[in-house]
Amino acid sequence: MVPSPLYLLLAKIIIGTTLACSVAWLIDYSRTGAWRNPVGQTLLTKTVIISALLLVSWLTTLFRFNFTVLNIIRWGDLGLVALVAPVMVWRMVVFHRVTAARLTCSNGHSVSGGANFCPMCGVPMSS
Ligand SMILES: [Zn+2]
Repeated sequence: MVPSPLYLLLAKIIIGTTLACSVAWLIDYSRTGAWRNPVGQTLLTKTVIISALLLVSWLTTLFRFNFTVLNIIRWGDLGLVALVAPVMVWRMVVFHRVTAARLTCSNGHSVSGGANFCPMCGVPMSS
């Protein structure tokens, strides 16, 4: 089945824009040194997988692939989608590890490890 010209045009624009924004975020966030902290690693990994999925989808809107290539693309898509599940589990484990750690703000309040600010007095928490 061939998609309608309107669908194809919108898909090119929407998927291409989303891909560009994802890659821009990856570059921007990577510059903060996020690959060195556990939460950043999970965020970046998930965005790399999603960007790869978007890239494959975008390429299928730009070019007409034959049946064999489309079949390979489908298997690649399925593999990438399958990677999202373990990354989300990894994210949950990291999130619970980070928030389970207790910190103390400069005014002596006990604060969850993932907090940016003390919820009791609003003092910024340094990590
Ligand atoms: Zn406090």
